Amino acid sequence: MVDSQTRFEELVNRLREQGYRLTPQRMALLRLLAASDGHPSASHLYDQLHTQFPTTRLGTIYKTLNLLKDLDEVLELGFSDDDNRYDGNKPYPHPHLICVRCRKIMDPEVKLAQDLVQQVAQQSGYQIVSHRLDFYGVCPDCREGE
Ligand SMILES: [Zn+2]
Ligand SMILES: [Zn+2]
Repeated sequence: MVDSQTRFEELVNRLREQGYRLTPQRMALLRLLAASDGHPSASHLYDQLHTQFPTTRLGTIYKTLNLLKDLDEVLELGFSDDDNRYDGNKPYPHPHLICVRCRKIMDPEVKLAQDLVQQVAQQSGYQIVSHRLDFYGVCPDCREGE
């Protein structure tokens, strides 16, 4: 995981060089995305921002998320049965650990994915452009409550 302060500064610079206005509200959103704590959904981000900035709109959050997605600065994880989740800390494809109880999403510290991508590319002759690898389980916090 990238240090969230470093990542926050990267995101700020990226938007600044694109000429986007950096309101305090947008800065706060970038800070949350840079930390990517549990891989929040847009409504989760909204809940966190709304207490600090009561004028926050869900639409504004989606606008910034889409903007960052176009710049390849945020990774979007779509789910058929749940809200999309976002990782602004590591915007490139990487494995995820998903808790089936609390829906927290973590990044396991494994190198497996890159080896797997190379193997698949070699065996199939495909040029791999993206991949998705999700592990489902029960997180330590939820296991403790058992
Ligand atoms: Zn959990
Ligand atoms: Zn992630």
